[in-house]
Amino acid sequence: FEEGTYLDLAFFVAEGTVDLVLKKLDQAPTAPIFGATSTDPQATAFLTRPPPRDERAEITYLASADFDLAGGERAELKEGDFFGEIGALNGWPQSVTATTTSICTLVQIRLPALRQIKRKSKALRKQLDDAYRSRTLDRQLRTTPLLASCSPEMLEALARKVELTSLEPGESLAEEGALADSVYLVRSGFLKVSQRVDGAPMLVSYASKGQTVGEAELLVEGVDRWQATVTSVGYSELVRVSHESFRAVLRQHPDVERTLWEFAVDRVKRNGYARRRPGRSYTTDFALSKGVVQGTSVLVIDLDVCTRCDDCVRGCASTHEGRQRFIREGDTFEGFLVARSCYHCQDPVCLIGCPTGAIARVNVGSVVAIDDALCIGCGSCANNCPYDAIVMHDTGTAWPETAQPARLRGEARLVASKCDLCHTSEAGPACVASCPHGCAYRVQNVEEFDALVEAKRVQVQPLGADA
Ligand code: SF4
Ligand code: SF4
Ligand code: SF4
Repeated sequence: FEEGTYLDLAFFVAEGTVDLVLKKLDQAPTAPIFGATSTDPQATAFLTRPPPRDERAEITYLASADFDLAGGERAELKEGDFFGEIGALNGWPQSVTATTTSICTLVQIRLPALRQIKRKSKALRKQLDDAYRSRTLDRQLRTTPLLASCSPEMLEALARKVELTSLEPGESLAEEGALADSVYLVRSGFLKVSQRVDGAPMLVSYASKGQTVGEAELLVEGVDRWQATVTSVGYSELVRVSHESFRAVLRQHPDVERTLWEFAVDRVKRNGYARRRPGRSYTTDFALSKGVVQGTSVLVIDLDVCTRCDDCVRGCASTHEGRQRFIREGDTFEGFLVARSCYHCQDPVCLIGCPTGAIARVNVGSVVAIDDALCIGCGSCANNCPYDAIVMHDTGTAWPETAQPARLRGEARLVASKCDLCHTSEAGPACVASCPHGCAYRVQNVEEFDALVEAKRVQVQPLGADA
């Protein structure tokens, strides 16, 4: 496979040798996995169009570094080695190009099987975790802003002590009131953070890739029990750092402690905000269950203002050769429709397994788009998208007699069709711009979605009711 490919499988070298090379890292900087990504819970700004083009270049992409190689450097794998598993487990693009250098027998292990054998076989889990520790973790810790000031020796020592934790959907990481002994860094996935309010659990915040949980329990004196219950939404991968190991870092690096305090204060503020405004809890729950939390640009329509004139749909079609790229239906929440339009996900699982690379990030923000010329209409992306955001479009033509693979010849030519965020248009999303009532929005994250919903809640509150 090539660098940048999304795969839902790993490889085991049963026989032969495989060469791995990092070609492009120098030009495409790796985003730190454990960066600070907290957001203002009271944010009210809505994004209705993508940022201007000249700013887009600064947006970095999630990228794994499953091998600690410098650009151009090679590593050779042999019998008994695994590769590709870090990208597959975390939903990251592969960070190296893998090429066989001899006659090889490779065993492909698909993601569900990989998860299962990792869970059931202690020996395999250890082998994969050791590989992650030696190939990747050190580099990730080094590029983590939180740990930027730590010496290489300290990070090396830390990398040896941390544990890797995998959670299944719905699995609990921590129970409110139980003894806390670790801080967790989220490598991938989403965690729900709930607290008991008047005896019932209330979802107060969530943690996603790059964030930490358990920092308040480490820092606040006299608090040694979990202040919240933490549960995985889907599959999650975490790094567990024991309080003892983290304290060793904090003793030598007060600046790390300062940053961790900022995370803790942010979390306490977010939890407190949700407790004061239970509506936020419902919004976050909806966003987590419907995938809005994954989105970097989600089309949301205010149904109380929308007149169903369909100008948004026509605007989309007229800027895309008459083929609309979204459907004005979908899940609704408190009078808002989350339209069936691509969310431009943080982890775009639609990219996994495209045989031609037709669907890809297009180097404009997080935009995922399809190159019609490369699409062979296999439907893999449409099947993979959990949000029904891709439809197979019949072009009304047939594949020519020269088409490859040969089985396509004479068959009806289908192409996968989805929102491309109008990334080639200076005018931004046509759906938003075409709405004469100003009720179509593109929201970039849960906080923006919540602010939109909250603004309506305030509007519809009866006179005299408490704000
Ligand atoms: S097509 Fe689906 S999975 Fe892919 S980015 Fe869009 S919403 Fe996400
Ligand atoms: S339908 Fe087209 S874009 Fe989608 S996976 Fe197949 S070839 Fe790729
Ligand atoms: S952003 Fe552009 S392509 Fe996407 S739904 Fe709106 S008009 Fe269509």
